[in-house]
Amino acid sequence: MKSWKLRMAVLLLCGCLTGAPPAVAGPRSEVVFNIETDQKLIALTFDDGPNPVYTPQILDLLKEHGAKATFFVLGKRVQSFPQIAIREVNEGHEIANHTFDHHFLKNVSPDKLKEEIRQTQEVIFDITEQMPHVFRPPGGFYDDALIDLAREDHFTVVMWSWYQDTKDWRRPGVRKIVDTVLSNVHNGDIILFHDLEGDCSQTVESLRQILPKLKEQGYQFVTVTDLMQRTYGK
Ligand code: ZN
Repeated sequence: MKSWKLRMAVLLLCGCLTGAPPAVAGPRSEVVFNIETDQKLIALTFDDGPNPVYTPQILDLLKEHGAKATFFVLGKRVQSFPQIAIREVNEGHEIANHTFDHHFLKNVSPDKLKEEIRQTQEVIFDITEQMPHVFRPPGGFYDDALIDLAREDHFTVVMWSWYQDTKDWRRPGVRKIVDTVLSNVHNGDIILFHDLEGDCSQTVESLRQILPKLKEQGYQFVTVTDLMQRTYGK
């Protein structure tokens, strides 16, 4: 058995024993969109990275504000920029699985995506020694078969709060991104950003404005796993 598979088995066993987020009956209800909580907690998430130029800038801002986030990385990008993935882990952020090559479910079979999820686990573990247990499907496209396959590998499938889709990948302007987040913010929100290949300068600039504003309002920025465990793990 390869080491990462063994590690995954151990982690899964530990997760069962230490109060990992509870599963709720039924495939649909197992997909997490946001967390009901009375605590002022926010989960910032960044998809499709790492990006060699912009992810370090995002990490600098998160560090400046004492914020933790979750990076839904692509296996191929982690292979290309391993030092950034290592930095994410070393600075206390969560690495989560977003497949290897970002195929949408409408274009490939659930089995192909499962193969990519496993390939990505292997890459992430080899480089960071972390074994993600959170998965987000590319584009947010899923069906029952994909959820079942993710469950077989004991992933929690995490999407985002529907009103917290910044659509930053379209580069709609910093003001639009900032307004989307600040005008809708609630406890337990999961906010969607991207550190994808290409120009992410609007994402970085938006974050530079959003972080101090939400901090002023008393929000704390935590990983998605921390958000789930603080809410359900009591
Ligand atoms: Zn994506």
